[in-house]
Amino acid sequence: MFAATVLTLYPEMFPGPLGASLAGRALGAGKWSLDAVNIRDFAIDRHRTVDDTPAGGGAGMVLRADVLAAAIDSVADGRPILAMTPRGKPLTQQRIREISAGPGAIVLCGRFEGFDERIFDGRNVEEVSIGDYILSGGEMGALVLLDACIRLLPGVMGAPSSGEDESFETGLLEYPHYTRPVEWEGRTIPEVLRSGDHAKIAAWRKTQAEIDTRLRRPDLWERHEGARVQPPSGARQKKDE
Ligand code: SAH
Repeated sequence: MFAATVLTLYPEMFPGPLGASLAGRALGAGKWSLDAVNIRDFAIDRHRTVDDTPAGGGAGMVLRADVLAAAIDSVADGRPILAMTPRGKPLTQQRIREISAGPGAIVLCGRFEGFDERIFDGRNVEEVSIGDYILSGGEMGALVLLDACIRLLPGVMGAPSSGEDESFETGLLEYPHYTRPVEWEGRTIPEVLRSGDHAKIAAWRKTQAEIDTRLRRPDLWERHEGARVQPPSGARQKKDE
């Protein structure tokens, strides 16, 4: 079973949103487990201090390596140890798939200015980021990471195939979706999707995915196609036409 352990100063933030919907049902059904451990329980002084002022001066406080190490050592069992940091490697669907296929994860949530640098090396910690912006703490990042892993666990998502078409899985963004009513505020569903011609629909979706990726995420498109293939020509039907 996928076992998630979150090391945090705010264990009350868990399971939080992971207690609802897909992840919450799977948690209730025992398809994954969640343990939120308070880093403060591993403080060594009377005042239960977890942080101290930055060496060299400057603003803010830094989480102590010795306290973090004690917290990590209390739960370490070979699962990957991930720390949420803005300078970490940006999370990708590929890394999420790898983590979700493993025994689980130990997720370290920072606060204040972050972690004493020595903890990363000292405990073989992998730094991951959820994007180029600054959160007030790692907890939201941990929720994002775990949500992305949990939906991939066997038996969690309704139709197993619904994961394979998603954006990023194929190296492309997903094609656009429509549902009833056929006409809404003068906007109609593209004719081809109502044709019942599955080959034509598949071809249309592939083209839309390629066009969308090229226009919205040239970085993904570049990686997908390399220099090998020319980008598709022709604009996609505008959604507001
Ligand atoms: N001083 C740090 C920011 C600290 S923000 C810096 O400038 O890089 C406090 C904590 O929030 C961090 O320790 C980290 O755990 C978390 N955090 C903030 N932004 C994040 C992001 N984009 N991805 C993952 N974790 C983040």
